[in-house]
Amino acid sequence: MERKAMIAGNWKMNLNSKEAEELALALKKGLDVDLKHEVLLAPGFINLSIVKKIIGGLPILLAAQNMSWENKGAFTGEVSPIQLRDIGCTHVIIGHSERRHVFGETDVIVNKKIKAAIKNSLTPILCIGETLDERENQKTYRVLETQLKGAFEDLSEEQVSNIIVAYEPVWAIGTGKTATPDQAQDAHVFVRKELERLYGDDFAQSTRILYGGSVKVENIDQLMAQPDLDGALVGGESLKADKFLRVIHYQ
Ligand code: PEP
Repeated sequence: MERKAMIAGNWKMNLNSKEAEELALALKKGLDVDLKHEVLLAPGFINLSIVKKIIGGLPILLAAQNMSWENKGAFTGEVSPIQLRDIGCTHVIIGHSERRHVFGETDVIVNKKIKAAIKNSLTPILCIGETLDERENQKTYRVLETQLKGAFEDLSEEQVSNIIVAYEPVWAIGTGKTATPDQAQDAHVFVRKELERLYGDDFAQSTRILYGGSVKVENIDQLMAQPDLDGALVGGESLKADKFLRVIHYQ
């Protein structure tokens, strides 16, 4: 089954409005509009509408990096799925390792956010991944299994049919230490098997699994050559137009 690849840029808590505008304009200028795979940008909340204005009309998708599971109300400091839809987001990153490990997001919270995203027609990009300690103690598969099971709790195959999974080993995020293509492929095969166990073969074969963790110009081609890597979620390297354009146009 053919899966359309996706290259996604997670700008995290970086860039002021002028910098975000400049980066989006440079990406717009350098993008091959006939690209066969998808490109997605995830700027910080305050830069979403600035970036949307620039990429509108281009084949670039817009995502938020996080959101509330509530639609509206007295939730000071939160941003709701309705607000994200209104501003032009089609996707939302859920359960990024920084949300889990810095802000204490649990699988229960991740599950609530996935449900809220789906209810509001936002495609979730669900992030999962093990820490270095977990990998060194042979717990990688167990962690991935638990995070997947938790995220998909009480959701039918139909509800999650468009979800995107991002395998992001915590030890590789922002560290410059990338998983080798073999390590990434191995984890992706495991994730796909778990997806099959949860919802069957059709679902597993059609669901895109992105890799994230120090993806760079130097490693994107080898990573994307792996059969079960369906794209990349890119942090640091997505902040410089020339580098991110090379990652987007991987070979
Ligand atoms: C990320 O933000 O999801 C990420 C993988 O970051 P980096 O590419 O900087 O490791």
